[in-house]
Amino acid sequence: MKQWIALATLAAVSVGANAQSFPGNKPVAIVVPFTAGGPTDRVARDLAEAMRKLIPGSNFVVENTAGAGGTIGANRVAKAAPDGHTLLLFHIGMAATPALYRKLSYKPLEDFEFLGMVNDVPMTLIGKPQLPANTYRDFENYIRANAGKLNIAHAGLGSASHLCGLLWQSNVQTKDAMTTIPFGGTAPAMTALIGGQVDMMCDQTTNTTAQIEGGRVKAFAVTTAKPLSNHPVLKHYPSLQEMGMKNFNLTIWHGLYAPKGTPPAVTKLLNDTLKKALKDPEFVKKNEGLGAIVVTDNRTDPAEHKKFVAAEMVKIKAAVDAAGKYAD
Ligand code: ASP
Repeated sequence: MKQWIALATLAAVSVGANAQSFPGNKPVAIVVPFTAGGPTDRVARDLAEAMRKLIPGSNFVVENTAGAGGTIGANRVAKAAPDGHTLLLFHIGMAATPALYRKLSYKPLEDFEFLGMVNDVPMTLIGKPQLPANTYRDFENYIRANAGKLNIAHAGLGSASHLCGLLWQSNVQTKDAMTTIPFGGTAPAMTALIGGQVDMMCDQTTNTTAQIEGGRVKAFAVTTAKPLSNHPVLKHYPSLQEMGMKNFNLTIWHGLYAPKGTPPAVTKLLNDTLKKALKDPEFVKKNEGLGAIVVTDNRTDPAEHKKFVAAEMVKIKAAVDAAGKYAD
């Protein structure tokens, strides 16, 4: 009997490791560690569609496991069965959370198979439509004049919006002069901003571009070193560097990961599919429309992406330790 079970298990493992049979008729869940309708979710949904097209009969679906700056969703994938059916789409938080959370329940470099990087996404500084300011300068003056009275939304401790808000506030020296309001992602934060319940936020262009274009929020600046001169909507806003913040340069990268131990044949298939998806003209166009830049360089290689994340971790840890501010 025991032998039968062992044989059956062996057969199941080898079927699981066979790229030809992957993903079979089981869906591939791309876990987004933030709420639905936000910027990371947008990237994941477009990517899921591009990957689905490349593997006939496959079903790539997005699942949102939000909370604690992305760490709950990342932990879910770290502990998932390593069969390629549960993947993680995370951003710079993959490198930032181990510095910000000293008691993290997963290890980014040890608990995941790296499948490759997806894109680079700039951020924008935006405010509720009722704010009296119309230019970045007016905005900064308004913030200073109202220190102690305003609030800033973000997607949880250690999220990209949190990081951006902290960097910006320390530059304008309004740090601690605004109340921070954490959400499970920036989709609900955006709803609150449009409704005027929060005053401002810094968020990826994959969430803000349509709202800025529709006049539902006010935009004041972009976080990249240079303005986004080629983008039809975002070209109207200065970079924070132009506004005097000398070293301000923040771009949010996204990567795709599988649990450690996922069979090499499956991770290879997923990496090959990812690379092809990144060349899909429709995917590229959607990204460009939202101010994002699809990765075309060697960072799409798993080993290169892992090296890149390891370097980001060292850089971010040094900055966080110097500031002495942690999320836990
Ligand atoms: N923009 C969010 C962040 O600040 C995440 C999200 O909702 O996608 O990290």
